[in-house]
Parts: sequence; structure tokens; C-alpha cells
Amino acid sequence: MKIAPHHVPGTPEHKFSQMLRPDQVYQPRHAWPSDCTVQWGHGIVPATPFFEAFVPGTFIRGEGATIADAETRAFEKYEGEKLCGHQWGRQRPGGLLYTNGAGWCRKCGGFRSEMFRPIVTLGHHRKPLRLMELHHLESVESDHEMNARMDAKYPDRKADRASYARLLRIRLNLYGVADQS
Ligand SMILES: [Zn+2]
Repeated sequence: MKIAPHHVPGTPEHKFSQMLRPDQVYQPRHAWPSDCTVQWGHGIVPATPFFEAFVPGTFIRGEGATIADAETRAFEKYEGEKLCGHQWGRQRPGGLLYTNGAGWCRKCGGFRSEMFRPIVTLGHHRKPLRLMELHHLESVESDHEMNARMDAKYPDRKADRASYARLLRIRLNLYGVADQS
């Protein structure tokens, strides 16, 4: 298990994190695999204690009354996932159909970032941005507070959000903005 650098005194990440809010001193208690990075803290709104584990290819989050409870919740999910005979689909349970290759298990709700090949429509991205897309890109590129809020609220969407913003930036550079008149 690797501890995320913002929890490790002496690192620049820890120094920066301390300026935002004092770090929650905590020592993980469960046997996470060695190639997994963990972090913990309290959510922004509401201030729910959480524990997150970034296992290669997936992401597990637990919440609880304390960080220790949150870790136990996350570890149970991790252990439970190993026992599940996963049934992967592109549909997020109770949510959208993902075409970017992400998969969710229909039985345990487990997540894998690259379970399928992305579904693409050829030529789909070769067009100017609509105003709505331009405004979205501007806020992602300039509103760091919003990004931090979104990342805290939807940590499992962080990579998707970043790649979507990258795509919008490329389309803007190549094709500009559509004439809305
Ligand atoms: Zn499963």
C-alpha cells in the first residue's frame, strides 16, 4: 500500500495540503495490496469521513462515522469485489450508459475504467464547440474551486471530466466555436 503524498510529512503535497486544512493524522489498518494508493479525509459538504483506495484499474471509496469506519467499509467492498463473479456492463447502476469503455458490475457495483473498447462515432468530434460546451470548458479551465468541489463529490468521474475537457480544448483549437446566430 502506498500512502498518498499529501499525507506524508516532508513532501510538497503535504505542505500544500496543510495550508488548506490540517491533515487528518491516520494510519490505515487493513491489508491493502502493495500497488494500491490510499488517501482519506473529510468531505467538503457534507463533512463525511471518507477513505479511498486507487487499486490499478479501479477505485474504491468508503464513507463512515469515522475515517477508520470508512476504511473498513472500503476494505469490505474491496474484499467483496474479489469474491463476486463479476458481470460487467456499460450501464452505471442507477445511472447513465457509458460509451468510453468504463464498466460497472451489475452484481456488486464494482468499477473498472477500461473494461470495454470505447464506442466512437467516426467524425463525431470533428466539429466546432457549441456555446454550452465553450462555457463548460472555460469553467473547467479557470474555476479551480469548482474542480476541487466536483473531484471531492464525484472522485470516480475525475478522469472522465479531465479527458472530456481535453477533448473540448482540442476541438476548440481545431474548429473554433459554432456560429450560434
Ligand atoms: Zn461484481
